[in-house]
Amino acid sequence: MGETATGRRDPDCVFCKILAGEIPSDRVYEDETVIAFKDLSPKAPVHVLVVPREHRRDVRELAEQPELLAHVATVAGDIASHQGSGDFRLLFNTGPSAGQTVFHVHAHVLAGGTLAEGEM
Ligand code: IMP
Repeated sequence: MGETATGRRDPDCVFCKILAGEIPSDRVYEDETVIAFKDLSPKAPVHVLVVPREHRRDVRELAEQPELLAHVATVAGDIASHQGSGDFRLLFNTGPSAGQTVFHVHAHVLAGGTLAEGEM
């Protein structure tokens, strides 16, 4: 784990590389603390990832910063309002057996159309 002037960064992390502009992404929102970009493999008409700029492993680590966690939820709601009806599903896969594959905390925002129960 490396430290940079802008905060924690893991040089092997794909989302840290997106944040640094080393890997392209389809960004829909960004501010000082988070970015949001379209998921590469969308599971819903709107599928956006909201990603804190600082490298944190999962939502448990993010919960150590309650204001940032609340900000992620606010940004998710704004994206759902702008890109869909305003209804949305907010999902944090946490740990490998729960489906987490990228270990830089991110919230999946799923919206648009009617989401089936149990569907990601
Ligand atoms: P997880 O399975 O909850 O960790 O979610 C990781 C998500 O990141 C998956 O839905 C992937 O499709 C998505 N993903 C992985 N690499 C990229 C990328 O380079 N750009 C956008 N989304 C990505």
